[in-house]
Amino acid sequence: MLQASSIPTEAYAVTARFAQALIPAISGALFVRSASRNNMEAVLRWGERGTNDQDSVPADECWGLRTGRVHLVENSHSGLLCRHLPDPPPACYLCAPMIAHGETLGLLHLQMSKDYQNLSEALVPGSLDLDWPVRTLAERLALTLADMKLREELRAQSICDPLTGWYNRRHMIETLDRDIRRASRTKRPLSLLIFDIDNFKEFNDSFGHEAGDVTLQNLCQIVKTLIRGEDGACRYGGDEFVLILPDSSAELAMQRAEEIRLAVRHAEIQYQGYLLKPMTLSFGIATFPTDARTSRELLRAADTALFHAKSEGRDKVRMHGNHSESASGN
Ligand code: GH3
Ligand code: MG
Repeated sequence: MLQASSIPTEAYAVTARFAQALIPAISGALFVRSASRNNMEAVLRWGERGTNDQDSVPADECWGLRTGRVHLVENSHSGLLCRHLPDPPPACYLCAPMIAHGETLGLLHLQMSKDYQNLSEALVPGSLDLDWPVRTLAERLALTLADMKLREELRAQSICDPLTGWYNRRHMIETLDRDIRRASRTKRPLSLLIFDIDNFKEFNDSFGHEAGDVTLQNLCQIVKTLIRGEDGACRYGGDEFVLILPDSSAELAMQRAEEIRLAVRHAEIQYQGYLLKPMTLSFGIATFPTDARTSRELLRAADTALFHAKSEGRDKVRMHGNHSESASGN
């Protein structure tokens, strides 16, 4: 079941069900490492409430996490207690770290129900040893989560540009085909915007490639704040980028391009404590279905408009087929 899980929440649920079947008299919680990496955050709880309500477990307050082993306390009057336990502590509990490939990914925490006084009463008859099945369960879940993380990282690497985090060209083409089919079905316009940094080669030659990289990253961060969540953002290649704006007319795309052009023109980007020279962008816009019917035609139409923006002096927005009249910029 764990191997067949495709998202973490499924794997958590499988683990909880299995833990309940193994030790019915126990309530439990699963914690996974937070983004800040200092805490383990609760992702699932089961069994009795009130004893087991911690939202997070600081890594340095748990013997299981610190030692990398299952920490089992059969009697809380005599055992060595973790600091993250509620007050009063459960009569009997255990903390099993979830470790995969040497990395601690989370914590499986089980507490014996208040109705039981000792561990042997709480176990399914015949299961004498709790350490092995719990350790195995925590390990299996950790391996499953590590696999999911790896798969997600590989997927992200295959569709994203590593420098900017924006989608790469291949993924954009796939998305664009799908977006055009949807626009056609819903009879809504879709605009595609290509923009390119003006004289970026000169910028690199003056300030160095690393400053150029920082500029590309800053540019993408600025643009991301000016577009909607549903808009596709892609690094088309070098200093050239594509935005796919579903449900947007040419006029709306023009407005959006103008906002981006002005925001970037006035952005103050720093590199190693110095303010870098402001950059300008040139834009080409084309809209489905007026300017083109396919992704290839749409890209070509926007590229032609970009060519006009460049040849008419740069730092401008141009629309396909209407490049002089709809011109904006200096
Ligand atoms: P134009 O206004 O016509 O676009 O001039 P340009 O100099 O920007 O155009 P050109 O296509 O000749 O050069 C693009 C430059 O972008 C070439 C290269 O120096 C720079 N470039 C491309 N990719 C990267 C990158 O990943 N990092 C950095 N720092 N520079 C890059
Ligand atoms: Mg350029």
